[in-house]
Amino acid sequence: MKYVEQANSWEARAIRNTLFPFTDLEILSRRGAAVLERGEGPYVFDVHGRKFLDANSGLWNMVAGFGNSALAEAATRQFERLPGYHSFFGRIPDQAVALGEKLIEVSPFEAGKVFLCSSGSEANDTMVKILWLANGFEGFPHRRKILTRSGGYHGVTAVAASMTGKPYNRHFGLPLDGFIHLSCPHYWRFAEPGESEREFSRRLADELKDVIRREGAETIAGFFAEPVLGAGGVIPPPEGYFKLVAAILSEFEIPLIADEVICGFGRTGRIWGCESYGFKPDAIISSKNLTCGYFPLAAVILGDSLANRVQAASEGSDEFPHGFTASGHPVGCAVALEAIDLILNGGLLSNVKRLSPQFNQRMHEFAAHRHVGEVRVAGFMGALELVADKETRESFPSELKISERIAGACEDRGLICRPLGDSVILCPPFILSDLQLDELFDKLSLGIEDALSGIQT
Ligand SMILES: *Cc1c(COP(=O)(O)O)cnc(C)c1O
Repeated sequence: MKYVEQANSWEARAIRNTLFPFTDLEILSRRGAAVLERGEGPYVFDVHGRKFLDANSGLWNMVAGFGNSALAEAATRQFERLPGYHSFFGRIPDQAVALGEKLIEVSPFEAGKVFLCSSGSEANDTMVKILWLANGFEGFPHRRKILTRSGGYHGVTAVAASMTGKPYNRHFGLPLDGFIHLSCPHYWRFAEPGESEREFSRRLADELKDVIRREGAETIAGFFAEPVLGAGGVIPPPEGYFKLVAAILSEFEIPLIADEVICGFGRTGRIWGCESYGFKPDAIISSKNLTCGYFPLAAVILGDSLANRVQAASEGSDEFPHGFTASGHPVGCAVALEAIDLILNGGLLSNVKRLSPQFNQRMHEFAAHRHVGEVRVAGFMGALELVADKETRESFPSELKISERIAGACEDRGLICRPLGDSVILCPPFILSDLQLDELFDKLSLGIEDALSGIQT
């Protein structure tokens, strides 16, 4: 009998009392939850001692793996010094001061300001409120609209979900008014026949210009973009895209905000995704890797211009009227300082650079596979897009849940990867060894064949 069918198993208990975020309920009830007990390096172990190589670094973020003692000790030390505090009323933990300095130092900005909170969603909400606050103070209260892209993911709170370009948000009656989604910048899927990648980028840039003209530049507060769409399926920007987009935004004086929650701190092989793709944003949103996933923390990093604007607006109302109880939590800040040091100086980023060519090569070996339509890679993340027919690029019937089948087959072989639409997503931890990279791809190949052999192809 399966664990999930035994009344008091961890699996049955997990289902009884948990509202699972973003989980296919039919698959959950059939397979049961994987209830995890501990982790070590890139591996996690469930309550039955089964071992999984986590090729998704938790949810993109556990990039230092699961048993990093430097991170655990940074947290323990800070729990003993000052276990919690806020940043309201002019009081602030020393670690939050140090983290603010560090984030400006490693940012593309000469000077700026940092606001800390606990999640990417909160950080995006905060950024939108900062734009609204500054515009209102400057006499442009109608300059409120937010531009994002279809397929973009910015979080789940009401504003962040409104920014997110995913169909499931309609179930909540979202987006809110004034959140406008531009076309998804996925060349392979959305290019017109014969259109080059540059022409595709040009068409998307023209669309941006048209939308700005249609809505009126004076009504638009900002444009938010992930350098590489992450939860949209690891979609790197088409050639020339950000150069064209940044020029248009700058012409209309619309701030460009880089949502670096996934890309930031090394995922693309540089500190920031905007560095990898050659553009300079006006602000950066960071989370996930910021603490290597060891503590919930996020940062809004404002470049000089936005920092000055929010400062002036705050002085106008005597304060910046926004903040969370956990803003600048000292343990999160201490962990982040350690995590940033590990990534930049402790070998994590250099290992990403070292392994990326191999990762890229192993990913592209799947290009020849009869059911892989597109292979996408950006630094140390990638996606395999499955198709029923390579010629016509026709998808598998959705009821087959092809990517879920593959992820399930991989899990049965001890590999965690993520199904996302018709794609399988990989974003391994930065500490991976050569042998573990081989293990990952060997298990993935076997998992894909297991899943395909279970259906008629
Ligand atoms: C995960 C993610 C978010 C949301 O972060 P949470 O901490 O889950 O709220 C925002 N933007 C991007 C690009 C993300 O990947």
